[in-house]
Amino acid sequence: MGEDWRELDIANPTEEHAMLREMVRSFVYDEVEPQALEHDRDEKFNSKLFRRLGEQGILGISVPLEYGGGGMDATAVAIINEEISYSDPGLCLAYLAHDQLIANNLAHNGSEEQKQRILPKLCSGEWIGCMAMSEPGYGTDVLGMQTGAEQREDGSWVINGRKMWITNGSIDEEGTPADVVWLYARTGTDSKGRAEITTFIVERGMPGYSVGQKIEDKLGMRSSNTAELVFDDCIVPAINVVGNPGESMIHMMRNLELERLGLAAMGVGIARRSLMAMNRYASEREAFGKQIREFGQIQRHIGESWAEYRAMRAYVYDTARKIDLSKAGNRLDSDGVKLFGTSAAKNIADRAIQVMGGYGYVGEYTVERLWRDAKLLEIGGGTLEGHQKNITRDLADDPEAIDR
Ligand SMILES: Cc1cc2nc3c(=O)[nH]c(=O)nc-3n(C[C@H](O)[C@H](O)[C@H](O)COP(=O)(O)OP(=O)(O)OC[C@H]3O[C@@H](n4cnc5c(N)ncnc54)[C@H](O)[C@@H]3O)c2cc1C
Repeated sequence: MGEDWRELDIANPTEEHAMLREMVRSFVYDEVEPQALEHDRDEKFNSKLFRRLGEQGILGISVPLEYGGGGMDATAVAIINEEISYSDPGLCLAYLAHDQLIANNLAHNGSEEQKQRILPKLCSGEWIGCMAMSEPGYGTDVLGMQTGAEQREDGSWVINGRKMWITNGSIDEEGTPADVVWLYARTGTDSKGRAEITTFIVERGMPGYSVGQKIEDKLGMRSSNTAELVFDDCIVPAINVVGNPGESMIHMMRNLELERLGLAAMGVGIARRSLMAMNRYASEREAFGKQIREFGQIQRHIGESWAEYRAMRAYVYDTARKIDLSKAGNRLDSDGVKLFGTSAAKNIADRAIQVMGGYGYVGEYTVERLWRDAKLLEIGGGTLEGHQKNITRDLADDPEAIDR
C-alpha cells in the first residue's frame, strides 16, 4: 500500500487549493483586515472592496472558466470563506450571497443565454447579486412563501410580494437595489398547500422592483447590507425564468447544501482567529505573578477550543471534498457540519472573550465582533433547529449512513 495518502492535507488537498488559500490570505491581510473594525462600527458595506474580490478572480469561484469564473470546487469555496471570515465575516456574508447563492446557482441551473449574459458581470464584480427566499412571515417554513407570480398573455410574468433579510438586497446607504436577484416565487400550490416554486432572475430597472427598507441595528454581520425587497406588479420577461415553472424546489435545496457548507466554513475562520487571539493573550497577560495560561480554568478554554476547532475544520473540509456541485445528496452532512461548526465558532469566540477579560469585550481586540458575527451562522441559511430536524429525518430514511 502506498503511503501518499498520509500526505493529504484535507484543507489544502491540491497545489491549486493551497495557492488559492495563500493568495486570499495575503489579500485579506493587506486589504480586508485594515477596514473591518470601521465598517462593522459604521454598519457599512464596503462595495469598493467587494468589487476588488472580482479583480482577485474569486467572485464566482465555482463558475466555469468560460463565463469568467474560477472553475473550482466546493473546497475552494470553503477556503475562501474561511480566509475572509478570519478577518471580516460580514464582508464574507456579502461574498457568500453573491458567489454561492446566485453565481453558483445560475452556473448550474441557468439557460445558456442567462449564463452568457449575466455570469461575466457577476464574476467581474460589475454587478452585485443576491438571493431572495425568506419572507417577513416565512423563513424555515419556506414552502409557505406568499410572494407569487402569474404569467401574462404575452409570456412575461407579474410578481407580487415581499422578501425579507436579503443580504446584498441593497448595495449602498441610499437604498439602491442589487443589480440582480435570484428570486423564488410561488407559481402554484400542491395538494398539501405547499408552494410550487419558480425561480426568476430580476434585474435592477425592471418595473416594480425596489428596496423596502435597509435593515439597521443588526447584532453582527454589520459590514454586510441586509434589506427587505418589494415586488409590486414587477414585470419579468419569460427569458428570465430559470428552468421549467414550478420545478425549482430541487435546485433550491441543492444550493442550500453549498450555502450550509459555506456558512460552516466561515465558522472555521472565526474559530481560528479567536483561538489565535486567546492563545497569544494567555501568554502575554500575567495575574498573581504568572501567565494566565498557567491557570487550569484558562487551560480548559484553550484546550476545548483547540479540539473543537480541529474537529470542525476536519468535518468542513471532508464534507467539501464530497460535495459535487452539480448534484444534490449531501444534506445529511451539510446540515451536520453547519449544526456543529457554527455553534463551535460561537463558543470559541465566547471563550476568547472570557480569556481576554475586559479587553476581549471591546472592538479593538476583534473577538467580540467575531462572537456577534458567529451568532448569525446559527440562524441564516437554516436554523440549528432546522438542521436537527433534517438530520433526524434523513437518518430515519437512511440509517445505514451511520455505518458507512
Ligand atoms: C443577517 C441575515 C441575513 C440573511 N440573508 C438572507 C438572504 O440573503 N436570503 C434569504 O432568503 N434569507 C436570508 N436570511 C433569512 C434567514 O435564512 C432566516 O432568518 C432563517 O431561515 C430563519 O427564518 P426566520 O427568521 O423567519 O425564523 P423562523 O423560521 O420563523 O424561526 C423562528 C424560530 O422557530 C424555530 N422553528 C421554525 N420551524 C421549526 C420547526 N419545524 N421545528 C422546530 N423549530 C422550528 C426556528 O428554528 C427558530 O428558532 C438572512 C437572515 C439574517 C438575520
